[in-house]
Parts: sequence; C-alpha cells; structure tokens
Amino acid sequence: MKLKFWGVRGSLATPQNNDYFQENIKKLLEKAVEYNLDNNNKIPKFIESLPQYMSSIIGGNTTCLEVRNEDNIIILDAGTGIRNLGNYLLKEFSSKSIHCHILLTHTHWDHICGLPFFIPVCVAGNSVDFYGVHPNLEQRLQYQQDFRFFPLSFEQMLAKKTFHQLKEGTSFEIGNLKITTKLMDHPGKSTAYRFESNGKIIVFATDAEYFDLNHNSLLQKFEFFNNADVLIFDAQYPFDEIIKKQNWGHSSAFIGIDIAVESNVKKIIFTHHDPNSTEKDLFELFENAKKYLNINYSNSNLILEIAKEGLVIDV
Ligand SMILES: [Zn+2]
Ligand SMILES: [Zn+2]
Repeated sequence: MKLKFWGVRGSLATPQNNDYFQENIKKLLEKAVEYNLDNNNKIPKFIESLPQYMSSIIGGNTTCLEVRNEDNIIILDAGTGIRNLGNYLLKEFSSKSIHCHILLTHTHWDHICGLPFFIPVCVAGNSVDFYGVHPNLEQRLQYQQDFRFFPLSFEQMLAKKTFHQLKEGTSFEIGNLKITTKLMDHPGKSTAYRFESNGKIIVFATDAEYFDLNHNSLLQKFEFFNNADVLIFDAQYPFDEIIKKQNWGHSSAFIGIDIAVESNVKKIIFTHHDPNSTEKDLFELFENAKKYLNINYSNSNLILEIAKEGLVIDV
C-alpha cells in the first residue's frame, strides 16, 4: 500500500499568512548570515541545517489522503486537499477514464467541502464509488451543492456515482484490500477505517475524542488499532487544551502515544492540525510529543511522524 497526504488541517483550510511568511524569511536570512552562506554550493547543506519549520511546510488544506493498492485508488475524505489530488489524477490518466473510491469518515464541512472542486467527478466516463457509515450520504452531498450554497449541483457532476451504505463494524473489500469500520466518539460520530493487505495494516482514525482514558474503556480501540503498521491519529490540540475542549470531538498527540504503545502500533502519524496553530507551533508540538515518548516509554520502538501535505509512505 502506498499512502499520500493531500490535506492535513482540521476544521478549516488555513492558508499561509503574509506576516508569518515575512517573519520566516527574515529569520532564514539571519541564519544564512550566521552560516556564512556565500556561494550556491553551500545551499543544500544550509537547508539541512535549518529547523524543520523553516525548511518545510505542514500545509493548509483540510483532510484528504490517498491509498493506492494494486491498481485501486482509494481516497479518504474530501477536504480541500482533494482538489490538488484531482488535478494530479487528471494529469496521470490524461485521456483515460478514472475510477476511484471515496471513503468518508463523516460529513462535517472540512471533510467534504473539497468535493465540488474534484474535477474527475465532473467528467462523464469517469466513475466514483462513495462509501460511508452515516445514513443518507448521497443526500448530504447533494445538499452541500444546493444552489443556495454552490453554483453547480451534485447531479451536474457527470461521472457515474455509486453509493455504498456501510454498516459499522463490518468489513468489505476493494481488490485484495480488506477494510473494516468503527464508529468513533465525535459530534455526530465519525468513522475510523482499518485497511489490511498482504499482512500490512493502516488505520485512519481522525476526528475522534477519547473521553475515558481508563485501560478497560479503551480496550475496543486497542483491538481496532492492534498491530497497525501505521496509525493516522487526530492530534488537533495540545494535551493541556484537551481538558478545556471536552466534547469538541478531538484528541492530542500524548493520548495517541499512550494508545499506540498499548496497541503495538509501529508508526503513529499526527494529523487534523488545528487552524490556530502556526507551522512553527506544530513542529514544537511534535518535538514535545517526542519528549513525551522518550520520558514515558523509553524502551518503545514506536515511530512518530507529523502529517504534512505531500508526505508519502510505503506500507
Ligand atoms: Zn474534521
Ligand atoms: Zn468532524
């Protein structure tokens, strides 16, 4: 399986802000002076020496991930990140028709608002299969594109659209990929997906709150995440904010680490980043998560990663 992140922000798309950009440029130039950057050959090493928040970008698009398995294209959520994925697919397939599967965790705006900008679904001859546990999925997407809210109706998007109503806890297959669902605590509930193929496991569990951190209360979650090679986890808030934001439907990196260690997960990837966190804040939160792992689970082999747009992982 190949996993690619196209959108990693939670709640609202978060474009870069000019003040932040200019401040970063200033700091970058100060670092360059300190480094004695006096010729182009030194640039690659200079970039390597920079802190991550200066040399890379987390990104501002809301949730969208792509899983490729055999020839199947599986898209997880249709946040604003799906627009770039659609443009990429159009180039890749050129004049050939596109068939993809869109699995929705739930229908909060940040997980569906990119769909009207996903061009492959507008093209006759393409086909898109939609999957979700929530009832009336088709009506929900039609409603989003009611003319009061958007100029193009869902029916005017001409790809062949097929809807698959999933039942929580059951499994289904796309090619040799086995997919199992589980409902998570979130306002209106969200769906976590477990993907298994050739002995490898990816679990996608965004928009999820863990109210009771008692071991016994989490047993079902441990079971669902068990032995995952990759667990993609909602870490929207720092741990101290989680206490103030009960019932907001999200979690934090520290809780993710506790659950991942207990579930024997190999790699946890933090996602659904808060729109109020700058790129620098997010890298700091990530460093704190690494410290938390080292202090509390010094013998653990768990690998931590922060979701960024463009991150590709072979599983
Ligand atoms: Zn969300
Ligand atoms: Zn949500």
